[in-house]
Amino acid sequence: MKRVLLLVIDALTAPLLVKEMENGRYPNFQKLSDAGYLQEGISIFPSITHAALTSIITGEYPDKHGIIASHWYDFANDKVAYFSGSPGMMLQKGVGNFFREFLLDLNNDHLKALTLFQKLERNGHETACINFPLYRGDVPHKVNMPLLLKWIPNLPESTVVYGPKKLLLGDLILNPNELDIEASFTGAANWFGFHDKNTIDLVLQLAANDEFPDFTLAYFPQNDETSHAEGPVASHHQLDRLDEMLGDLIAAYGGLDSFLQQFMLIITGDHSQSETLADKAEQAINLEETLNGFQMAQAGQPWNDDSEIMACPNLRTAHLYFKDSFTPGKVQMVLDQLLAESRIDQLIYRASLTDSGQGYVVQTQNGRLHFWREEDGKAVDQFGNSWCWTGELAVVDGRLQESILTFPDYPNAFERIAGALDCTTSGPLWITAKLGHELIVPHIKPYVGGGSHASLHRLDSQPPLIVAGAPQNITLPKLPRITDIVPLCLACLETE
Ligand SMILES: [Zn+2]
Repeated sequence: MKRVLLLVIDALTAPLLVKEMENGRYPNFQKLSDAGYLQEGISIFPSITHAALTSIITGEYPDKHGIIASHWYDFANDKVAYFSGSPGMMLQKGVGNFFREFLLDLNNDHLKALTLFQKLERNGHETACINFPLYRGDVPHKVNMPLLLKWIPNLPESTVVYGPKKLLLGDLILNPNELDIEASFTGAANWFGFHDKNTIDLVLQLAANDEFPDFTLAYFPQNDETSHAEGPVASHHQLDRLDEMLGDLIAAYGGLDSFLQQFMLIITGDHSQSETLADKAEQAINLEETLNGFQMAQAGQPWNDDSEIMACPNLRTAHLYFKDSFTPGKVQMVLDQLLAESRIDQLIYRASLTDSGQGYVVQTQNGRLHFWREEDGKAVDQFGNSWCWTGELAVVDGRLQESILTFPDYPNAFERIAGALDCTTSGPLWITAKLGHELIVPHIKPYVGGGSHASLHRLDSQPPLIVAGAPQNITLPKLPRITDIVPLCLACLETE
């Protein structure tokens, strides 16, 4: 049986990767695509890191896996969960916070579905995780406590995290059992090991010793950060080093043929990025201004008695929560006020929010669409989901071609919207920004003149899927969703 290597490159943007490959920039990405398959994939909604990474490792939408976004309101604990952008950004906000939230809360409290690590190891396979934030498994690992205690003073004496058998997590877990490797790119200058340089080095060490278990997931976070800062086109220099790594990896196994005889290699991303406008006043839509007249909860803080609305921006989208006492009349005022802002693209909400019955509503300045799942409905989408609707399909670029529903500008819109709004921790109302814009509240800094993502639009939602060395009995998806990666890995490893 072949082993599986899954490389997740944050914000890897399919159309740009393909364009640069055509320019001859990435010979090793090219070689692997030529030997296998490259397709544009589809992310989830919201197309944002933590939610999408969780979909990659669980094969589920947020309604099943519980991580709705990178910023949401946790009802059970009256607490705002906030996992800003990349590890680099998180570290700037305080190392202690970063590790408490990432290391413990995200995996222990919020994640509701089994990870691929768990599914495989419970079926007798051995797996490894290198720096992937959703690392949960069943094997206890001791964390580098002196380091952690320095940052998080109130932790119990010994902290154990549960991961796959082979877990490498930055400076926190440097030397797992039975692996003959040593991390060199650690410390503050290397994001405490949560850095591409470290992931690359560890992958190549595992290759040099041929220590990859049945399944290995390696995560490369930096492309997202560079792309936010420089824009998705300019940031492509970030991939040069990754292309070199692919070359070294192939060479370590004696060339492409012998490498692919031993491995199925998958390369993907969690979402893509679109360009943002350079003028800050124009670029950023401040929800406190747009919702002038309502009492907004202070960003990042629990509800207080006076506030009526809590806004949780996630880059190019945001969700709103309302106090129970918020009346239908006020909801309508909120919708009207948001629709009057010309930089807002769509309002996406549970139909129950306006007492419109079951299902979901999308509204823009140009129309309103109400849709819901129904067996033997009006039409099926490209993934076999059956739907009914009333109103304007155009608000999600919906088209009917030979009674198949497609959504060219908002790929797989219905399934993605349902997968978000059915999540219990989702706000009932989502707002998406038109291309070029982000949604903010005052303390959030927009990525002006760079790149961003998280909306339903295709430009935010198109990571590639490259698969090389797939066993011949495996059918690769024609239109891959990031949720299709788990079944692909399970099939290769002959696990149900
Ligand atoms: Zn990002």
